[in-house]
Amino acid sequence: MSKSVEMEKIVSLCKRRGFVFPSSEIYGGLSSCWDYGPVGVELKRNIKDAWWKNIVQKRDDVVGLESSIMMHPQVWKASGHIDSFADYMVECKECHLRWRVDEISGTKCSQCGRELTKPRMFNLMFKTFMGPVEDEASTIYLRPETAQGMFVNFENTVTISRKKLPLGIAQIGKSFRNEITPGNFIFRTREFEHMELEYFVKPGNDKEWFDYWVKERFEWYIGLGIRKENLRLRQHGKEELAHYAKDCYDVEYLFPMGWSELEGIANRGDYDLTQHGRASKKEISYYDDETGQRYVPYIIEPSAGVERSFLAFLIDAYREEEVEGEKRVVLRLHPSLAPLKVAVLPLSRNEKLTPLAKEVYKQLCPGFMTCYDDSQSIGRRYRRQDEIGTPLCVTIDFESLEDNQVTVRDRDSLAQIRVPVSGLEKVIQAKLAGEPFEASPLWATREK
Ligand code: ATP
Repeated sequence: MSKSVEMEKIVSLCKRRGFVFPSSEIYGGLSSCWDYGPVGVELKRNIKDAWWKNIVQKRDDVVGLESSIMMHPQVWKASGHIDSFADYMVECKECHLRWRVDEISGTKCSQCGRELTKPRMFNLMFKTFMGPVEDEASTIYLRPETAQGMFVNFENTVTISRKKLPLGIAQIGKSFRNEITPGNFIFRTREFEHMELEYFVKPGNDKEWFDYWVKERFEWYIGLGIRKENLRLRQHGKEELAHYAKDCYDVEYLFPMGWSELEGIANRGDYDLTQHGRASKKEISYYDDETGQRYVPYIIEPSAGVERSFLAFLIDAYREEEVEGEKRVVLRLHPSLAPLKVAVLPLSRNEKLTPLAKEVYKQLCPGFMTCYDDSQSIGRRYRRQDEIGTPLCVTIDFESLEDNQVTVRDRDSLAQIRVPVSGLEKVIQAKLAGEPFEASPLWATREK
């Protein structure tokens, strides 16, 4: 079993500090649904921004898309979801608990020891009705992945972007799966967000691009601070491959419950565009005007979950340390992921300190997620910021009123430097850029 922090500690921190709350908690909560509080929503946004920056903004071969959650039902017929997006499920005849077949080891209920039903298929798509009549003709589905939006918009996007293949279409958005056994906090839920890239390539070049994306996606997590020893790649065996996939790797993370999937990277071949071409009776293909060839592109798909990444980043950042005989819990989150970048803390609520402290707060707010906190002792306030991973704290004391300098405290090294108020932005920027705190260019401005 994993040596990483216990899940209970993460769940408790998330509740205590406002990362994640149980959904509809005042009514007793709703199974497997979670709400993201003030710092949780910031962490989620930062993860999505980091992904978008890396996949779309920094590249000239990927463009973005936002397709609708509700799509034409034919989409799900053509994609194979209506027929085969299902898990085998068994149910206890006595206590009616349900399991995915691949999650149970024996033939008896592990709860009460009674007999189980025969396995039956359970489709994971949520159904609803469009319009006032609830019949088969008005049945639609909540999408279980964003990918189909990219496939059905392939021709629109290629034409409008005036780009050649290889070309990627990226999307971040909600997906829904009626999972039989959700759980492990936010690891497996029925509503979650996907970050998906569909990268369209010439057949024959697919292996090369597949290898490229497997490496690229693995490195993304490392670049954002996940420790290498907690991340690994696992290739799917032939029997495990999805019906559309030629090859697939999972990026796995060492979660508290053991190694589990964080992201999947699949070579989907020409399955999707061929299926939609057939079903819509509109051939979907690409004309390469340099070679004069027309072909159905192959698709390489890195598909990640926002919440699973959120959980992995939190677990990996969590540390319990001893500082001068006292325990501190600190989230050593990568500065670009940290929900708040800086906290402005007047030494006390003394009315002489408040005006300068508020001024510093107003100065920093437009550029950085900043918070202002003047309640309780400075030590407790530092600990509060450590627990949510705020990289820097700025303290205003009585000396600041004389020399217009403030103390900046680094979350990781606990080093403190005096900085003129006018130079604060530079110190914060250097920290966000990953420069070591001590070597920051502002080191030179320590002197009075
Ligand atoms: P699993 O085997 O865990 O059910 P999957 O292989 O079905 O996942 P994909 O369809 O490849 O998952 O989706 C890609 C990513 O989306 C996963 O790696 C995961 O990060 C995320 N994801 C999928 N299902 C869920 C879910 N029910 N809750 C949260 N995230 C999910």
